[in-house]
Amino acid sequence: FKSKLPELPTSIFTTMSQMAKTEKALNLSQGFPDFPPDPKLLECVHDAMRKDYHQYAPLGGIFPLREQIAEKIERCYGASYHPQKEITVTVGATQAIFTAISAFVYPGDEVIVLKPAYDCYEPTIIANGGIPVLVQMKGKEHKVDWEEVASCITSKTRMIIINTPHNPSGRVFSKEEMLKLENLLRDTDIIVVSDEVYEHLVFDGRQHESASKFPDLASRSLVCASFGKTFHITGWKMGYCASPEYLMAEFQKIHEFAVFCVNHPLQHALTAYLKNPDHYLGLGKFFEEKRNLFLKGIEDSRFAFVRTMGTYFQLLDYSQISMEPDMQMAERLTKEFGIASIPISVFNKGQVDNRQLRFCFAKKEETLNRAIEILQKI
Ligand code: PMP
Ligand code: GLN
Repeated sequence: FKSKLPELPTSIFTTMSQMAKTEKALNLSQGFPDFPPDPKLLECVHDAMRKDYHQYAPLGGIFPLREQIAEKIERCYGASYHPQKEITVTVGATQAIFTAISAFVYPGDEVIVLKPAYDCYEPTIIANGGIPVLVQMKGKEHKVDWEEVASCITSKTRMIIINTPHNPSGRVFSKEEMLKLENLLRDTDIIVVSDEVYEHLVFDGRQHESASKFPDLASRSLVCASFGKTFHITGWKMGYCASPEYLMAEFQKIHEFAVFCVNHPLQHALTAYLKNPDHYLGLGKFFEEKRNLFLKGIEDSRFAFVRTMGTYFQLLDYSQISMEPDMQMAERLTKEFGIASIPISVFNKGQVDNRQLRFCFAKKEETLNRAIEILQKI
């Protein structure tokens, strides 16, 4: 047989987390917290497990959870989604993104992807016979050249994938940028997949500009979100997709045969926990303090950086330190210095300066202090 993804290497997250383990290094590579979730959330799980939720859930998710999700979106972005017809609970954002791409991309369709890009978009496009059209974000600040995006639109463009707050750069799209995108797509039939898994991790008084806030954009968007990132439970693999009904109907046809439905008791636990908005509204402040601690600690080091605007990632530029390619540098830092990170080249395109490493600061203060100590010595 012919492989659908012949060039796919082992995921960098597996590679670096494994290397961190073998080398007993601090693991700031793969994006996950090293602290536990809120005990109150675990209580909700215990309660749910004691009830009779052990059989299949409804296809799109239990109604009360979809209602809570709709309320959260309304509260945060002023947008209204019908819980039954416009929201589906998924196995993390990964399955939401996979399903959205699979539902709409036909062989030969072009899908615009902004680089650097999180690793799940391109393989999914290719496995569906689509063609990724890559547009590199510009400079150390990772600005999007919307003119270039516009110039990539052809009669074959089926979809554009955006990600704000952005992994790995931490860039948060402004309202003006979202309006630009909205205008660019007006009078086209291009669908948007808006990856918003870091929606609540936005710093320095900024606002997350969800695609759902902009009516014309929202009318063509599938917004994908993750409870893993919001509630420090990446291992639960729980997320959702919200879109207008005409898109959701197609999304659910694929969802039905990818998973049919999602973990039932955890849906009840999340329903109970979501009822208190304080459980997600304070998240930006919480991670902003971690970012500040991390950056204060390394401001006198030889690493250069643009302060991350959102997510729990910080890119560090080591061009003052070494000429080495980033994979080699990431490996050396893990093996010689005991700290693991993610080389940015895995997210990038072609000939760009890749001398940047991504560090995850979703860590306990003690871990961040140890990381600072190491980074200051490099
Ligand atoms: N998109 C981005 C940008 C991510 O960083 C991640 C990793 N959490 C995902 C999607 C996947 O989310 P999940 O773990 O909920 O599948
Ligand atoms: N989203 C996580 C990151 O960017 C990784 C998820 C995974 O391991 N696939 O680090």
